Amino acid sequence: MRRPPLTAPRGTGEDDREGGPRLYVAATPLGNREDVTLRVLETLRRVPLVIAEDTRRARSLFAIYGIEGKRVESLFKGKEEVRTDDLIEKIRGAGEAVLISEAGTPVISDPGYLLVERCRREGVPVIPLPGPCAAVAALSVAGLPAEPFLFLGFSPRKPGELRHYLEGYLSLPFTLVLYESPLRIEKTLEALRELAPRRPLFLAREMTKLFEEHLSGSAEELLAALTGREIKGEITLVVGRGEKRPPRPESREELVEILLRETGLSLKRLERLLRRETPA
Ligand code: SAM
Repeated sequence: MRRPPLTAPRGTGEDDREGGPRLYVAATPLGNREDVTLRVLETLRRVPLVIAEDTRRARSLFAIYGIEGKRVESLFKGKEEVRTDDLIEKIRGAGEAVLISEAGTPVISDPGYLLVERCRREGVPVIPLPGPCAAVAALSVAGLPAEPFLFLGFSPRKPGELRHYLEGYLSLPFTLVLYESPLRIEKTLEALRELAPRRPLFLAREMTKLFEEHLSGSAEELLAALTGREIKGEITLVVGRGEKRPPRPESREELVEILLRETGLSLKRLERLLRRETPA
């Protein structure tokens, strides 16, 4: 069978600028090897230098797609700052480079931000080659409102900090997207059961892989579904927006406090209005 050539038309704008070094930021599959764009493959084949979060994973990607003869430089978390000078020099030397992460889109809870920022500051064009991203994939199938959404990435590990952190974000009118590990998901769900028992959740595990699983429900329901199981793989959690319920003051003092906050009236004016509205 004759395959169509894997050469996509070049993009427009930044990608068409002639000459000078440039950096491509390319999304690679989360799991399913077919989730790669023609443009990513064409660019990986053409460009001499690949900057990778995980050089072994990069080489196995090259083996899958039959890509040969690449120079690979590493850029992993914690080493970004010290690697940036050297990498900028190497991008200039190579003319073109591609940044990839272990899976999905670089920079999104993955290294690359400092390198991209530095390239921009030094006038090196940075061109996105969009594709898989777990946050967007989960949001697209969650059945929860996607606008506005707030991407939180990984949450703090310590239970006290986690509770405080979630509490802050739960008070905002956003759908939240969190990256989770199988070791921590139960702690997060327990915190959500306490802080937001009525909010609808969507848990996506192992998206695009053999054991892909989707769970929808409250924190209590998700905990019930996971209890007694060995939880494995990669997890993205979407927390739907809560309904904004009108406050129900339990005393006159509480009512005054709410009205002062919401109306901006002075206490004197408010008291006068309340006296007029509430017969003795
Ligand atoms: N840069 C990646 C992206 O574009 O999504 C994310 C990298 S971050 C280090 C890895 C986290 O993404 C995992 O811990 C998990 O929370 C989420 N993730 C990655 N692959 C996933 C998958 N196949 N299914 C569900 N969540 C996934």
